[in-house]
Amino acid sequence: MLRCSGLVHLIHLTRVCRRGGGAGMRLGSSWRWQLSRAMRLTLRWCRPHRGGRGGGTKPWISGRFLDLWSYSKLLLKSLYFNSLTNSDTLLDCAFEPVYWIVDNVTRWFGVVFVTLVILLTTSVVVIVYLFVIPMILSTYPVYWIIWHLCCGHWLLVMVVFHYYKATTTSPGHPPKDNIHIPSVSICKKCISPKPARTHHCSICNMCVLKMDHHCPWLNNCVGHFNHRYFFCFCIYMTLGCIYCSISSRNMFMEAYNAIESYYQTPPPTETYTDTTAHKSIIFLWVLTSSVAVALGGLTLWHVILISRGETSVERHINCKETKRLKEQGKVFRNPFHHGRMNNLKILFGVEKQSHWVTRVLLPSSHPPSGDGIMWDCIFNRRGPMAI
Ligand SMILES: [Zn+2]
Ligand SMILES: [Zn+2]
Repeated sequence: MLRCSGLVHLIHLTRVCRRGGGAGMRLGSSWRWQLSRAMRLTLRWCRPHRGGRGGGTKPWISGRFLDLWSYSKLLLKSLYFNSLTNSDTLLDCAFEPVYWIVDNVTRWFGVVFVTLVILLTTSVVVIVYLFVIPMILSTYPVYWIIWHLCCGHWLLVMVVFHYYKATTTSPGHPPKDNIHIPSVSICKKCISPKPARTHHCSICNMCVLKMDHHCPWLNNCVGHFNHRYFFCFCIYMTLGCIYCSISSRNMFMEAYNAIESYYQTPPPTETYTDTTAHKSIIFLWVLTSSVAVALGGLTLWHVILISRGETSVERHINCKETKRLKEQGKVFRNPFHHGRMNNLKILFGVEKQSHWVTRVLLPSSHPPSGDGIMWDCIFNRRGPMAI
Protein backbone atom coordinates (compact mmCIF):
# COMPACT_ATOMS: atom_id res chain seq x y z
CA MET A 1 0.00 0.00 0.00
CA LEU A 2 2.76 2.40 1.05
CA ARG A 3 4.87 1.37 -1.95
CA CYS A 4 1.90 1.97 -4.31
CA SER A 5 1.21 5.34 -2.78
CA GLY A 6 4.88 6.32 -3.09
CA LEU A 7 4.91 5.19 -6.73
CA VAL A 8 1.77 7.22 -7.53
CA HIS A 9 3.33 10.31 -5.95
CA LEU A 10 6.53 9.81 -7.90
CA ILE A 11 4.65 9.45 -11.21
CA HIS A 12 2.52 12.48 -10.39
CA LEU A 13 5.57 14.51 -9.45
CA THR A 14 7.35 13.51 -12.64
CA ARG A 15 4.33 14.56 -14.70
CA VAL A 16 4.12 17.89 -12.92
CA CYS A 17 7.83 18.54 -13.47
CA ARG A 18 7.58 17.62 -17.13
CA ARG A 19 4.53 19.87 -17.64
CA GLY A 20 5.91 22.87 -15.72
CA GLY A 21 8.13 25.01 -17.93
CA GLY A 22 9.03 28.07 -15.78
CA ALA A 23 9.43 28.90 -12.09
CA GLY A 24 5.96 30.56 -11.86
CA MET A 25 4.33 27.57 -13.42
CA ARG A 26 6.20 25.26 -10.98
CA LEU A 27 4.99 27.32 -7.99
CA GLY A 28 1.39 27.41 -9.30
CA SER A 29 1.26 23.67 -9.80
CA SER A 30 3.01 23.03 -6.45
CA TRP A 31 0.16 24.30 -4.26
CA ARG A 32 -2.39 22.49 -6.44
CA TRP A 33 -0.38 19.33 -6.08
CA GLN A 34 -0.14 19.76 -2.29
CA LEU A 35 -3.93 20.31 -2.12
CA SER A 36 -4.70 17.25 -4.19
CA ARG A 37 -2.30 15.20 -2.10
CA ALA A 38 -3.93 16.34 1.15
CA MET A 39 -7.40 15.55 -0.22
CA ARG A 40 -6.30 12.14 -1.41
CA LEU A 41 -4.81 11.36 2.01
CA THR A 42 -8.00 12.54 3.78
CA LEU A 43 -10.17 10.39 1.52
CA ARG A 44 -7.91 7.41 2.02
CA TRP A 45 -8.05 7.89 5.82
CA CYS A 46 -11.83 8.20 5.77
CA ARG A 47 -12.22 5.17 3.50
CA PRO A 48 -13.95 2.24 5.25
CA HIS A 49 -11.43 0.00 6.98
CA ARG A 50 -11.11 -3.31 5.25
CA GLY A 51 -9.79 -6.48 6.77
CA GLY A 52 -9.43 -7.16 10.47
CA ARG A 53 -10.99 -10.06 12.30
CA GLY A 54 -13.47 -11.95 10.15
CA GLY A 55 -12.43 -9.87 7.13
CA GLY A 56 -15.67 -7.81 7.36
CA THR A 57 -15.99 -4.10 6.59
CA LYS A 58 -16.58 -1.76 9.50
CA PRO A 59 -17.97 1.77 9.20
CA TRP A 60 -15.17 4.34 9.46
CA ILE A 61 -16.47 5.81 12.73
CA SER A 62 -16.41 2.48 14.52
CA GLY A 63 -13.20 1.40 12.79
CA ARG A 64 -10.73 4.25 12.50
CA PHE A 65 -11.82 6.17 15.58
CA LEU A 66 -12.07 3.11 17.78
CA ASP A 67 -8.60 2.07 16.62
CA LEU A 68 -7.33 5.56 17.39
CA TRP A 69 -9.05 5.55 20.76
CA SER A 70 -7.54 2.15 21.66
CA TYR A 71 -4.12 3.29 20.48
CA SER A 72 -4.33 6.50 22.57
CA LYS A 73 -5.39 4.53 25.66
CA LEU A 74 -2.52 2.10 25.15
CA LEU A 75 -0.10 4.99 24.70
CA LEU A 76 -1.34 6.66 27.91
CA LYS A 77 -1.21 3.41 29.89
CA SER A 78 2.30 2.69 28.69
CA LEU A 79 3.41 5.90 30.41
CA TYR A 80 2.37 4.87 33.93
CA PHE A 81 1.42 1.17 33.85
CA ASN A 82 2.77 -1.01 36.61
CA SER A 83 1.52 -4.44 37.59
CA LEU A 84 1.43 -3.21 41.24
CA THR A 85 -0.68 -0.15 40.41
CA ASN A 86 -3.91 0.10 42.38
CA SER A 87 -6.28 2.81 43.59
CA ASP A 88 -4.00 3.59 46.59
CA THR A 89 -1.03 4.21 44.28
CA LEU A 90 -3.12 6.48 42.06
CA LEU A 91 -4.38 8.38 45.10
CA ASP A 92 -0.79 8.72 46.35
CA CYS A 93 0.26 10.06 42.95
CA ALA A 94 -2.59 12.56 42.92
CA PHE A 95 -1.70 13.81 46.40
CA GLU A 96 2.07 13.75 45.82
CA PRO A 97 2.31 17.57 45.38
CA VAL A 98 0.39 18.10 48.65
CA TYR A 99 2.67 15.62 50.48
CA TRP A 100 5.71 17.36 49.01
CA ILE A 101 4.56 20.76 50.29
CA VAL A 102 3.66 19.40 53.76
CA ASP A 103 6.98 17.52 54.05
CA ASN A 104 9.05 20.52 53.04
CA VAL A 105 7.12 22.93 55.25
CA THR A 106 7.47 20.53 58.22
CA ARG A 107 11.20 20.10 57.53
CA TRP A 108 11.68 23.86 57.37
CA PHE A 109 9.44 24.54 60.37
CA GLY A 110 11.44 22.01 62.40
CA VAL A 111 14.25 24.55 62.80
CA VAL A 112 11.73 27.25 63.81
CA PHE A 113 10.08 24.93 66.36
CA VAL A 114 13.40 23.91 67.94
CA THR A 115 14.38 27.59 68.24
CA LEU A 116 10.97 28.28 69.80
CA VAL A 117 11.41 25.49 72.38
CA ILE A 118 14.88 26.78 73.33
CA LEU A 119 13.74 30.41 73.55
CA LEU A 120 10.59 29.67 75.59
CA THR A 121 12.41 27.30 77.96
CA THR A 122 15.19 29.86 78.45
CA SER A 123 12.65 32.62 79.11
CA VAL A 124 10.91 30.47 81.76
CA VAL A 125 14.25 29.65 83.46
CA VAL A 126 15.28 33.34 83.45
CA ILE A 127 11.94 34.42 84.98
CA VAL A 128 12.22 31.71 87.66
CA TYR A 129 15.78 32.84 88.54
CA LEU A 130 14.84 36.54 88.55
CA PHE A 131 11.52 36.49 90.40
CA VAL A 132 10.45 33.08 91.79
CA ILE A 133 13.69 31.92 93.47
CA PRO A 134 14.29 35.31 95.24
CA MET A 135 10.71 35.10 96.58
CA ILE A 136 11.32 31.50 97.79
CA LEU A 137 14.64 32.47 99.41
CA SER A 138 13.13 35.46 101.22
CA THR A 139 9.85 33.96 102.46
CA TYR A 140 10.11 30.14 102.72
CA PRO A 141 11.59 28.09 105.60
CA VAL A 142 15.01 26.44 105.07
CA TYR A 143 13.75 22.90 104.33
CA TRP A 144 11.38 24.26 101.61
CA ILE A 145 14.21 26.31 100.13
CA ILE A 146 16.43 23.19 99.93
CA TRP A 147 13.60 21.18 98.39
CA HIS A 148 12.82 23.85 95.78
CA LEU A 149 16.48 24.32 94.81
CA CYS A 150 17.09 20.56 94.49
CA CYS A 151 13.82 19.73 92.71
CA GLY A 152 13.94 22.72 90.36
CA HIS A 153 17.55 22.13 89.29
CA TRP A 154 17.06 18.37 88.94
CA LEU A 155 14.10 18.95 86.58
CA LEU A 156 16.06 21.57 84.64
CA VAL A 157 19.04 19.23 84.15
CA MET A 158 16.77 16.34 83.08
CA VAL A 159 14.84 18.51 80.58
CA VAL A 160 17.99 19.97 79.00
CA PHE A 161 19.81 16.61 78.88
CA HIS A 162 16.93 14.67 77.30
CA TYR A 163 16.05 17.42 74.84
CA TYR A 164 19.66 17.68 73.69
CA LYS A 165 19.95 13.89 73.33
CA ALA A 166 16.56 13.54 71.59
CA THR A 167 17.42 16.17 68.96
CA THR A 168 21.01 15.07 68.33
CA THR A 169 20.72 11.26 68.52
CA SER A 170 19.96 9.53 65.24
CA PRO A 171 16.81 7.36 65.49
CA GLY A 172 18.61 4.58 63.59
CA HIS A 173 18.38 3.49 59.96
CA PRO A 174 18.65 0.07 58.26
CA PRO A 175 22.20 -0.59 56.98
CA LYS A 176 22.53 0.37 53.31
CA ASP A 177 25.58 -1.76 52.58
CA ASN A 178 24.03 -4.97 53.93
CA ILE A 179 20.90 -6.22 52.16
CA HIS A 180 21.04 -9.62 53.90
CA ILE A 181 19.18 -8.47 56.99
CA PRO A 182 15.97 -9.96 58.40
CA SER A 183 13.24 -7.92 56.71
CA VAL A 184 9.48 -8.03 56.31
CA SER A 185 9.15 -5.94 53.14
CA ILE A 186 10.95 -3.67 50.70
CA CYS A 187 10.73 0.11 51.00
CA LYS A 188 9.46 1.38 47.64
CA LYS A 189 11.11 4.77 48.23
CA CYS A 190 14.56 3.60 49.41
CA ILE A 191 14.43 0.33 47.37
CA SER A 192 15.96 -1.50 50.32
CA PRO A 193 14.83 -4.17 52.81
CA LYS A 194 12.72 -3.00 55.74
CA PRO A 195 13.22 -4.88 59.04
CA ALA A 196 10.24 -5.40 61.35
CA ARG A 197 8.92 -2.15 62.94
CA THR A 198 10.84 -0.04 60.40
CA HIS A 199 8.93 2.62 58.48
CA HIS A 200 9.82 5.22 55.88
CA CYS A 201 9.80 8.85 57.02
CA SER A 202 8.87 11.08 54.08
CA ILE A 203 10.23 14.18 55.87
CA CYS A 204 13.68 12.67 56.57
CA ASN A 205 13.35 10.75 53.28
CA MET A 206 14.77 7.53 54.73
CA CYS A 207 13.69 4.42 56.60
CA VAL A 208 13.75 4.66 60.41
CA LEU A 209 14.16 1.71 62.77
CA LYS A 210 11.16 1.26 65.10
CA MET A 211 9.77 4.55 63.86
CA ASP A 212 7.35 6.24 66.25
CA HIS A 213 6.76 9.56 64.48
CA HIS A 214 8.56 12.56 63.04
CA CYS A 215 8.63 15.24 65.73
CA PRO A 216 8.85 18.86 64.46
CA TRP A 217 9.60 20.03 68.03
CA LEU A 218 12.81 17.96 67.91
CA ASN A 219 13.35 18.42 64.15
CA ASN A 220 14.15 14.71 64.23
CA CYS A 221 12.48 11.37 63.83
CA VAL A 222 11.65 9.45 66.99
CA GLY A 223 12.90 5.90 66.50
CA HIS A 224 14.73 3.03 68.13
CA PHE A 225 17.79 4.93 69.40
CA ASN A 226 16.14 8.12 70.67
CA HIS A 227 12.67 6.92 71.73
CA ARG A 228 13.68 6.88 75.42
CA TYR A 229 15.15 10.40 75.22
CA PHE A 230 11.95 11.71 73.62
CA PHE A 231 9.72 9.99 76.18
CA CYS A 232 11.83 11.17 79.15
CA PHE A 233 11.86 14.70 77.75
CA CYS A 234 8.04 14.65 77.61
CA ILE A 235 7.84 13.37 81.20
CA TYR A 236 10.37 15.82 82.67
CA MET A 237 9.10 18.79 80.66
CA THR A 238 5.57 18.09 81.92
CA LEU A 239 6.83 17.73 85.51
CA GLY A 240 8.91 20.92 85.13
CA CYS A 241 5.90 22.87 83.87
CA ILE A 242 3.70 21.51 86.69
CA TYR A 243 6.44 22.46 89.19
CA CYS A 244 6.75 26.04 87.82
CA SER A 245 2.99 26.44 87.64
CA ILE A 246 2.44 25.34 91.25
CA SER A 247 5.47 27.25 92.62
CA SER A 248 4.38 30.53 91.04
CA ARG A 249 0.62 30.23 91.61
CA ASN A 250 0.56 32.72 94.58
CA MET A 251 2.76 35.17 92.70
CA PHE A 252 0.48 34.80 89.68
CA MET A 253 -2.61 35.69 91.74
CA GLU A 254 -0.85 38.76 93.16
CA ALA A 255 0.38 39.82 89.72
CA TYR A 256 -3.08 39.29 88.21
CA ASN A 257 -4.73 41.45 90.90
CA ALA A 258 -2.02 44.09 90.48
CA ILE A 259 -2.53 44.24 86.72
CA GLU A 260 -6.29 44.55 87.26
CA SER A 261 -5.62 47.63 89.44
CA TYR A 262 -3.60 49.29 86.63
CA TYR A 263 -6.90 50.35 85.07
CA GLN A 264 -8.27 51.94 88.28
CA THR A 265 -8.56 55.70 88.69
CA PRO A 266 -6.24 57.01 90.03
CA PRO A 267 -3.72 54.34 88.84
CA PRO A 268 -1.46 52.75 91.50
CA THR A 269 2.11 54.02 91.84
CA GLU A 270 3.90 50.89 90.55
CA THR A 271 7.57 51.03 89.55
CA TYR A 272 8.76 49.75 86.16
CA THR A 273 10.42 46.74 87.87
CA ASP A 274 7.13 45.79 89.56
CA THR A 275 5.22 46.02 86.28
CA THR A 276 7.82 43.88 84.48
CA ALA A 277 7.77 41.32 87.30
CA HIS A 278 3.97 41.07 87.19
CA LYS A 279 3.84 40.62 83.43
CA SER A 280 6.68 38.09 83.52
CA ILE A 281 4.97 36.03 86.23
CA ILE A 282 1.71 36.00 84.29
CA PHE A 283 3.58 34.91 81.13
CA LEU A 284 5.36 32.18 83.14
CA TRP A 285 2.19 30.82 84.73
CA VAL A 286 0.06 30.88 81.56
CA LEU A 287 2.82 29.27 79.46
CA THR A 288 3.77 26.53 81.94
CA SER A 289 0.13 25.69 82.74
CA SER A 290 -0.79 25.43 79.05
CA VAL A 291 2.26 23.29 78.23
CA ALA A 292 1.63 21.10 81.31
CA VAL A 293 -1.92 20.32 80.09
CA ALA A 294 -1.03 19.82 76.40
CA LEU A 295 2.23 17.94 76.89
CA GLY A 296 0.76 16.03 79.83
CA GLY A 297 -1.94 14.64 77.53
CA LEU A 298 0.63 13.68 74.92
CA THR A 299 2.86 12.04 77.54
CA LEU A 300 -0.07 10.06 78.90
CA TRP A 301 -0.88 8.84 75.38
CA HIS A 302 2.72 7.69 74.93
CA VAL A 303 2.63 5.91 78.32
CA ILE A 304 -0.40 3.95 77.05
CA LEU A 305 1.29 3.16 73.71
CA ILE A 306 4.57 2.06 75.30
CA SER A 307 2.81 -0.07 77.89
CA ARG A 308 1.00 -1.82 74.99
CA GLY A 309 4.31 -2.40 73.18
CA GLU A 310 3.26 -0.21 70.25
CA THR A 311 4.65 2.81 68.47
CA SER A 312 2.41 5.59 67.11
CA VAL A 313 2.69 4.13 63.59
CA GLU A 314 1.99 0.59 64.81
CA ARG A 315 -1.11 1.83 66.64
CA HIS A 316 -2.81 2.58 63.30
CA ILE A 317 -1.58 -0.66 61.69
CA ASN A 318 -2.62 -2.78 64.69
CA CYS A 319 -6.09 -1.17 64.78
CA LYS A 320 -6.61 -2.09 61.10
CA GLU A 321 -5.34 -5.64 61.68
CA THR A 322 -7.59 -6.06 64.74
CA LYS A 323 -10.61 -5.04 62.65
CA ARG A 324 -9.62 -7.24 59.69
CA LEU A 325 -9.03 -10.33 61.82
CA LYS A 326 -12.21 -9.71 63.82
CA GLU A 327 -14.23 -10.00 60.61
CA GLN A 328 -12.58 -13.40 60.09
CA GLY A 329 -13.43 -14.44 63.66
CA LYS A 330 -9.81 -14.18 64.81
CA VAL A 331 -8.12 -12.16 67.55
CA PHE A 332 -5.11 -9.95 66.87
CA ARG A 333 -2.19 -10.16 69.28
CA ASN A 334 0.66 -7.67 69.16
CA PRO A 335 3.89 -9.70 68.74
CA PHE A 336 5.97 -7.04 70.56
CA HIS A 337 3.82 -6.85 73.70
CA HIS A 338 5.71 -8.36 76.63
CA GLY A 339 3.41 -7.18 79.44
CA ARG A 340 2.69 -3.59 80.50
CA MET A 341 5.51 -3.19 83.05
CA ASN A 342 8.01 -5.17 80.98
CA ASN A 343 7.41 -2.92 77.97
CA LEU A 344 8.22 0.17 80.07
CA LYS A 345 11.28 -1.54 81.54
CA ILE A 346 12.51 -2.47 78.04
CA LEU A 347 12.15 1.13 76.86
CA PHE A 348 13.91 2.59 79.93
CA GLY A 349 16.58 -0.14 79.84
CA VAL A 350 15.81 -1.18 83.40
CA GLU A 351 17.41 -4.58 84.03
CA LYS A 352 17.71 -4.35 87.82
CA GLN A 353 16.12 -2.26 90.60
CA SER A 354 19.02 0.24 90.85
CA HIS A 355 18.51 1.15 87.18
CA TRP A 356 15.29 3.00 88.12
CA VAL A 357 17.56 5.54 89.83
CA THR A 358 20.64 5.50 87.61
CA ARG A 359 18.86 5.18 84.25
CA VAL A 360 15.47 6.83 84.80
CA LEU A 361 15.81 9.40 87.58
CA LEU A 362 19.31 10.51 86.56
CA PRO A 363 20.70 11.43 83.13
CA SER A 364 21.94 8.30 81.37
CA SER A 365 23.27 7.70 77.84
CA HIS A 366 22.90 3.91 77.85
CA PRO A 367 21.86 2.48 74.46
CA PRO A 368 18.49 0.73 74.02
CA SER A 369 18.30 -3.04 74.15
CA GLY A 370 18.68 -4.67 70.73
CA ASP A 371 19.89 -3.29 67.41
CA GLY A 372 16.45 -2.28 66.08
CA ILE A 373 16.69 -4.90 63.29
CA MET A 374 16.15 -8.19 65.14
CA TRP A 375 13.17 -8.22 67.51
CA ASP A 376 12.18 -10.54 70.29
CA CYS A 377 8.73 -11.62 69.14
CA ILE A 378 6.42 -13.34 71.64
CA PHE A 379 5.15 -15.75 68.95
CA ASN A 380 8.62 -17.19 68.56
CA ARG A 381 7.91 -18.71 71.94
CA ARG A 382 4.11 -18.96 72.19
CA GLY A 383 2.50 -19.64 68.83
CA PRO A 384 0.92 -18.03 65.76
CA MET A 385 0.09 -14.34 65.42
CA ALA A 386 -3.64 -14.69 64.92
CA ILE A 387 -5.55 -17.15 67.05
ZN1 LIG B 1 12.54 3.96 53.01
ZN1 LIG C 1 11.64 11.87 60.02
